[in-house]
Amino acid sequence: KKTQRIDKMLVHLGYGSRSEIKKWVKQGRITVNGAVIKDSGLQSDPDLDRIEFDGEAVVYREFIYVMLHKPPGVISATEDARERTVLDLLPDELRVFNPFPVGRLDKDTEGLLLLTNDGQLAHELLSPRKHVPKTYLADCEGEIGEKEARQFAAGVELDDGYMTLPAEMQVVSRRTAADGSPSTRIALTISEGKYHQVKRMLEAVGSRVTYLKRISMGPLELDEALPKGAFRELLASELESLR
Ligand code: URA
Repeated sequence: KKTQRIDKMLVHLGYGSRSEIKKWVKQGRITVNGAVIKDSGLQSDPDLDRIEFDGEAVVYREFIYVMLHKPPGVISATEDARERTVLDLLPDELRVFNPFPVGRLDKDTEGLLLLTNDGQLAHELLSPRKHVPKTYLADCEGEIGEKEARQFAAGVELDDGYMTLPAEMQVVSRRTAADGSPSTRIALTISEGKYHQVKRMLEAVGSRVTYLKRISMGPLELDEALPKGAFRELLASELESLR
């Protein structure tokens, strides 16, 4: 049911605080179906009523979908007593929707993180039964190649005995540090999300991840035009692809 108090709706949409909206109502700046309203607690159905603020139509929406390029150093939680969270990167206009991260990236991991207040979509993307593929770029110590790709394709045993589902690995580039130690950048696509999974998969094949970035989740790809720490709302086409 969409019927709700006008002030609550406008707070939700990020127009201002409840007291500010009360003031604007007193000033006659808000109309419903062309009539100035006097009570900020008036009930309205945004699908049926035309609400205007300073003569501009108020476009109602219930859900938001935000793509964040998570930087390292922030945690994938909505609040924390000590650490900066991904929510701290969003402006109040979006935070009023109470979005939460769809899944988690480690504090030191960067890349694609979807934030939404659409619990159903989040549930579907995270459901272990759905096997939504996630692709990561990882810098790994040593020379990683065909052998490891075959191991990942077959499944590897993690430190707790869990056997991973088949995963696809490709070598992106190789490097040799000044001290002569080799490293390999890989793209790894996994269809599950165990705790520290990518890092533990690389440990299982005798390597170590030194850098980790998620670049896709299902059909959703990180927009490379988004700098670290930046965000944007999903395009209609992106949202459609997730449904
Ligand atoms: N795998 C990891 O080890 N860390 C992440 O943040 C995501 C996947």
